[in-house]
Amino acid sequence: MLTIKCARCKTKIMKYKKIGRGNVLRCYKDRITRLYDAEIADNLLQCGGCGNTIGEIEEKQVSMNQDAFTYSGHKIRK
Ligand SMILES: [Zn+2]
Repeated sequence: MLTIKCARCKTKIMKYKKIGRGNVLRCYKDRITRLYDAEIADNLLQCGGCGNTIGEIEEKQVSMNQDAFTYSGHKIRK
């Protein structure tokens, strides 16, 4: 499980069940297990702390803005 944080203010955004070792380019909605301090404005996922745009919400996934977040925790092996 990964904990995704805002790169600008370090606010916790969400917990994500990442499968596979690749980069976190997108987060599938059904694997987001918890939302912390995040706001949804139109189709954007924003940090609740500073308003930084973390990603763009699409039908089944959030396309992550690579410069906007950091993460810690473990990815799950396929
Ligand atoms: Zn922030």
